[in-house]
Amino acid sequence: MTEDYRREGPRRVGQVKEVTSLANPIVKDIKALSDKKTREETGTFMAEGLKLVIDALELGWKIRTLVYAKAAKGKPLVEQVAAKTVANGGLVLEVSEKVLSSITRRDNPQMVVGIFESRWTRLSDIRPENGQTFVALDRVRDPGNLGTIIRTADAAGASGVILVGECTDPFSLETVRATMGSIFATPLIRASVDEFLSWQKHAGTELVATHLAGAVDYRTVDYSKKPVVILMGNEQSGLPENLAKSATRLVRIPQQGLADSLNLAVATAVMLFEARRHLLKI
Ligand code: SAM
Repeated sequence: MTEDYRREGPRRVGQVKEVTSLANPIVKDIKALSDKKTREETGTFMAEGLKLVIDALELGWKIRTLVYAKAAKGKPLVEQVAAKTVANGGLVLEVSEKVLSSITRRDNPQMVVGIFESRWTRLSDIRPENGQTFVALDRVRDPGNLGTIIRTADAAGASGVILVGECTDPFSLETVRATMGSIFATPLIRASVDEFLSWQKHAGTELVATHLAGAVDYRTVDYSKKPVVILMGNEQSGLPENLAKSATRLVRIPQQGLADSLNLAVATAVMLFEARRHLLKI
């Protein structure tokens, strides 16, 4: 990673640069975004696909670099996003398919990739209102689960996903891929267990924790009286006692069959659509 990039991102503002070499320093910088430390230091991440890039720009996300395949040159939508990127002071790279494959680590890469500035919402700025639902995840580890949960939270109309404790990075390529674009539409918040517990004491929410030992059927809770936070446990160990104890309700999704538990993302989806059933219309 070059010092210039670390400080301010790519500097050749307003140019379209042709790149075919994997040894190009900008390509190396972009590839380094597969590393969490680099994403954090640069405050950037990668998203693949023209639709995603268009949606992100429309939602006001700041693009640092747009990369597109030579074969996409001249396509009207690609030209439009390239012009927008330049207008926003970003860099546009036209690259060979070999370079795109290498950047995205895929044999059949998307034609367009965007490097965006990451964005976090502060927990202290979250003041839940009636009709709002948040998902809080305790130490979520699996990038695919997190991406699926962000996508589902977006689809169910949730107002944000709170990452409690040491969680997998929502801006990793795998998670961003699994969100299918919802990463750009869903506020993400991170908090330690203590920060989360002290926030929720004053947030005026119904904190509904899910637990395999929950005594309450999740379908019997009234989710309409207050804003709701749905608290989900870690994939391996479930919710620790201090978090479970803080809940106003400890609920279970009844199961039959051999399975001990549901997959975390599936359980979150079941909870979200029940908690928002009265608010969702066809
Ligand atoms: N071995 C873990 C345990 O004992 O809790 C299983 C964790 S499960 C894979 C991940 C999370 O999904 C749980 O902590 C809980 O939040 C949620 N979950 C999965 N199945 C559930 C169910 N039937 N009822 C309530 N929550 C469930």
